[in-house]
Amino acid sequence: MEVLDLSVLLAILVALVAYVSKGKLWAAEGNDGSASSYRASGFETNDLVETMKKTGKKAIVFYGSQTGTAEDYALKFAKEFQSKFKISTMTADLADVSFENLQNIRDEIPDFKLAAFFMATYGEGEPTDNAVEFFDYLDNECEELPDLKYVCFGLGNSTYEFYNAIGKKTVEKLNSKGATLIGQLGLGDDGKGSMDEDYMEWKDSLFDLIKDQLHLEEQAVEYEPSIAVVENDELTTSSPSVSLGEPNSHYFNPKTEDEVKLLETGPFDHTHPYLAPIQNTRELFNSETRHCIHAEFDLSNTNLKYSTGDHVAIWPSNSNEKVEKFLAILGLTGKKDKVIDLKSLDPTTHLPFPTPTTYDTVLRHYLEISGPVSRQFVKSVSQFCPDKETEEKIPALANDKEVFHKSVTEKYLNIADCLELLSSGAIWNTIPFSFIIESIAKLQPRYYSISSSSSMEKQTIHVTAVVEQEKPKTSDHYVTGVATNLLLDIKKHQNKETTKLIDNFDLEGPRGKFHYKLPIHIRRSTFKLPSNPATPIILVGPGTGAAPFRGFLREKIKQVENGANIGEILFFFGCRKSTEDFIYKEEWVEYAKKLDNKFKMITAFSRETEKKVYVQDKLLENGAKVIELLDKGAFFYVCGDAANMARGVQLALVKAYQEQKKVPEDIATTMGKQLRVNNRYQEDVW
Ligand code: FAD
Repeated sequence: MEVLDLSVLLAILVALVAYVSKGKLWAAEGNDGSASSYRASGFETNDLVETMKKTGKKAIVFYGSQTGTAEDYALKFAKEFQSKFKISTMTADLADVSFENLQNIRDEIPDFKLAAFFMATYGEGEPTDNAVEFFDYLDNECEELPDLKYVCFGLGNSTYEFYNAIGKKTVEKLNSKGATLIGQLGLGDDGKGSMDEDYMEWKDSLFDLIKDQLHLEEQAVEYEPSIAVVENDELTTSSPSVSLGEPNSHYFNPKTEDEVKLLETGPFDHTHPYLAPIQNTRELFNSETRHCIHAEFDLSNTNLKYSTGDHVAIWPSNSNEKVEKFLAILGLTGKKDKVIDLKSLDPTTHLPFPTPTTYDTVLRHYLEISGPVSRQFVKSVSQFCPDKETEEKIPALANDKEVFHKSVTEKYLNIADCLELLSSGAIWNTIPFSFIIESIAKLQPRYYSISSSSSMEKQTIHVTAVVEQEKPKTSDHYVTGVATNLLLDIKKHQNKETTKLIDNFDLEGPRGKFHYKLPIHIRRSTFKLPSNPATPIILVGPGTGAAPFRGFLREKIKQVENGANIGEILFFFGCRKSTEDFIYKEEWVEYAKKLDNKFKMITAFSRETEKKVYVQDKLLENGAKVIELLDKGAFFYVCGDAANMARGVQLALVKAYQEQKKVPEDIATTMGKQLRVNNRYQEDVW
C-alpha cells in the first residue's frame, strides 16, 4: 500500500474511532458542581415523548441552528411562552431527539399544546447541520401529523438568493403532513440587520393568536430562572476545578491520560476547539487608522486537518474595557473573581458553560456583551430597574421602535452602555446574574475563510482578517468587533509594537494557557477548486474576499510544482487604494511568476478615480475574456461582501452574457443560473 493510501486509511480510522467514541470521550460527568458539568443536564434519552412525560413538558421549541442564533431565539421564545401562559416548555436541538413520536404526540401527551420551530437557513438554502436528519425524517418515515399545531420562525438573509428557504421548507413539509401552522411563518432578516425587530413583530402578533386558538389564559410575565447562580465561598480562582474561560473542563481538569491526549488529537468541533499556537502575525494595510491582520495558526502538534477553501472558526474573548464596564454597571467589580456555581433548575435546560466559574469569566469568555442591544432585552430588564426614575423612563424607549432606534441602535450602544443610559449611571445590582446568563447570547466563534493551501502548508492555517473599528457619525465612541480587535492586540504584543489600542485583551487567558494561542475549529466548506487542474477558474474577491483565493493560488502553484498542466486563472481584486489596502500586493506578483502565463490579475481601486470603480465594473469591462473562459468550462468563484458585492457580480455576469452572446436578459439569467446548477458558480460570502 502506498504511503498516501495508508495515511488516508489512518485518517479515516481516527475519524471513525473519534466519531463512534465521541460521546464517551468528551462526555460530561454529571452536574455535581465540579467543573466538568458542561451540558451536564439535559435529556437522558433522545426519546422526545419520554423526556416530555418525565419532565411534565407540554410544549416544545425545536431549533435548527448553525452559529447559535436560532438557538438563542428559541430559548427566548420558550421562556416567554412558558411565563406568559404558564405552560411548561422545553427547547430541543433538532439533532438531539428522535422524531418517531411526533406523529402521535397528542395520544401520548393529551394536553400537549404547541411545537415551535426556529429554523436557520445556511449556505445556498441548505438546512443547518443539526436539521438535516429532521428533513430526512419528514421526507421519508413521517406519515401524517394531523394533531400537530405549530409556529415557525425562519432566520435568513435577504441578500442571499435562497432567502429563508429552510423556514419556508419547514412550513411546506409540516403542512403537507396535515400539521396546522398558527399565524404566519416569521421571517427574520439578518441581511437588513432587522432580526430582532422581525422576531418581536412576529412574536407579539402571534401570542394573541396562540392564546385564542389554544384557549390559553395569559398571565403577567415574570422572570422565572432556569438556572440558579450561587456564590461559592470555598473555592477561589486558584482552585483547579474552577473554570476561568476554558472552552470546557477537559482543558483545565483532564481526568485521564486519554483526556489529555484528546486535547491534541481531537476530535475537534464547535464544542471542542483546538488551542492553536499563533506563530506569526503581521499587518497587511498601509494605513494609520485601518488594519488588516494576517495570522498563522500552527497545527504541527495536532492531527487537526483542513483542506483548501475550508473555514476556520476562532473563539474570541471580550476586551478588558468591555468586561470592566459591564462588571461596573452590575455592581460586580469588587466581586469579579468570586466563584459561582451554576445549577440547572430544569432537567431539560443545558448549562451553557462550565461551572463553577467566576463573574469575570462569564462576561469575558462566555457571553456576547459587546454587540448591539435588542429592544426585547430592554423590555425584559425593566422588571429589575434600580430606581423609580429608570422604571418610568423605559416604556417610552422599549415600546417605540423609532425612539429605540434613535436613542440606542443609532448610537451603537452595547448592553452596558444602554443600562448606564437608562439609569443615568445608577448601578443595576438588582438584576439577578442568572437573568444576565439567560438573556444574553453566548459568545460565538467567528468564521474566517482560510487563506493558506493545505497542499502548500499542511500544518499551518492562515487567516486574513480586516479589523472592525469605526466611529460612526451618530455615535460618540469607536465601535469595535471582538475577534478582529483581539487579533490586532495579539499582533501588537507579538511584534512588540507600542501603539495604543482601543480594545485591550487578557492575552494570557485562563491559567496563562492562551499565551499567543486561541481556540479554533475547522468547518468544512463546499467552496473548492475543480478536481481537474486544467479547468480554468475565474476568481472575484475584493478586500478580504481575496483570502480563500490566496489559498487557491498557492494550491495552484503546488499543482504546477507537481507537474500538472493548469488552466487559466483570472483574478478580479478590488480595494480602496493601491497604496493603502492592497493586501498581499507583493505576493500576487510572485504568484504570477510561478504560474507562468496562466495567471492574470485585474484590479479595481474605488478611491483613485473620480468615478468609483468596483470589481463588477472590471468584470463587465473584461466580459469577452470571462465568457470565453466560461465557454471553455471555467469555474466562477465569488468571495467577500454578501450585501452588495455578491449581488453586483451576479448582475454583471448576466450583463456580460447578454453583451457577449447577444441574448435577452432572461436567457442570460438562465445561463448564469445554469452555472450554479452545475456547481460552476460558487460563493463564499458573508
Ligand atoms: P463582531 O464582534 O462580530 O462585530 C460585528 C460588527 O458589529 C462589527 O462591525 C462591530 O464593529 C459591530 N458592533 C460592535 N458593537 C456594536 C454595537 N454595540 N452596535 C452595533 N454594532 C456593533 N472576515 C474577514 O475579515 N476575513 C475573512 O476571511 C472572513 N471570512 C468569513 C467566512 C465566513 C464563512 C463568514 C461567515 C464570515 C467571514 N468573515 C471574514 C467575517 C468574520 O467572521 C467576522 O464577522 C468579522 O471578522 C467580524 O468579527 P468581530 O468579532 O471582529 O466583530
